[in-house]
Amino acid sequence: MAEQTPQSDTPIARNQARGWLHNPDLPIDLSPIFVWPPRPVAAFRWLARSWLQASTMLIIFALALVGAALLPSMETMKALSPVWIGQIWLRHVVFLILVAGGLHLWFITLQGQGQALKFDPRKQATKNRQFLFNHQVHENVFFSLVSGAGLLTALEVGYFWIAANGWVPTFQLSLDQPLWALWFVFALIAIPIWSSFHFYWVHRFLHWPPLYRIAHGLHHKNINVGPWSGVSMHPIEHVLYYSTLLIHLVIPSHPILVVFHACLQNLSPPFSHSGYEQVLVRDKQRLRVGDFFHQLHHRYFECNYGTIDMPWDRWFGSFDNGTAESRTRQQDRMKAMKRHTSAD
Ligand SMILES: [Zn+2]
Ligand SMILES: [Zn+2]
Repeated sequence: MAEQTPQSDTPIARNQARGWLHNPDLPIDLSPIFVWPPRPVAAFRWLARSWLQASTMLIIFALALVGAALLPSMETMKALSPVWIGQIWLRHVVFLILVAGGLHLWFITLQGQGQALKFDPRKQATKNRQFLFNHQVHENVFFSLVSGAGLLTALEVGYFWIAANGWVPTFQLSLDQPLWALWFVFALIAIPIWSSFHFYWVHRFLHWPPLYRIAHGLHHKNINVGPWSGVSMHPIEHVLYYSTLLIHLVIPSHPILVVFHACLQNLSPPFSHSGYEQVLVRDKQRLRVGDFFHQLHHRYFECNYGTIDMPWDRWFGSFDNGTAESRTRQQDRMKAMKRHTSAD
């Protein structure tokens, strides 16, 4: 495994990187949770940024609480019925319209903050025959709502039907069972990390050329991403991407954890693909949304397959931290891979 040394890279200050309208301070930081020797204070601060201050994670968790409160009873879910299946489907559609539609409205339709903190100078594509309906956003909305919400509903419904029938381990929270409350908190914090782990491997697999051609290329038509690009994927990619939920078939789960996990998969990409680093209201930074790490993946394709929450890309040599030296390393890696493939 190739361990990169970003310490030797020349830092780039905000807004100084070539080819971008805006960039954060570079090199990009990865999670300090998976480092040796351990850095407990840094790890705590990293988690606190998601869980103890205004964050997209807390917005998603709040929506998940609403979703879980609206969930039909376990008794009802013992038998499949179009009524409760439709209810879960509607929740995914409404939440996605709220989050992706809300971000699109703010950033793109209303130009709420103009180009401030926007990464890529380009606009979303219109009159472009590459996209369904010749329109990037229309194609994105179509695949997100039709394929995405449909397949995510199928997985969630499948889980709750199995859980309601008692075929997988579940638990309820009660005052006389404090250990389950501890497990709940641990699982809640661990789910985004598990999701990052699962995403890296699934995404790496999607970059296998045959699968890229059939499925993942659709998501990558979005070089300049917007909120609706987040879960605009081919149905094959949707199945692989949402399969992260299958972990609940083996770990004891509370319904809130499962609904949170489903909401996380569906709602964090619209934030991270929004194309802007933060939401600004009256020139104040209100919410961190964008993800420069993944923005680099959309521009350069063969780097940053995972997320900043787990250092798989650093361990396997595909981490582009945004600096010039790092870009050169990635170009050299690609050339070496091409030489290797043509020699075969
Ligand atoms: Zn993406
Ligand atoms: Zn990709």
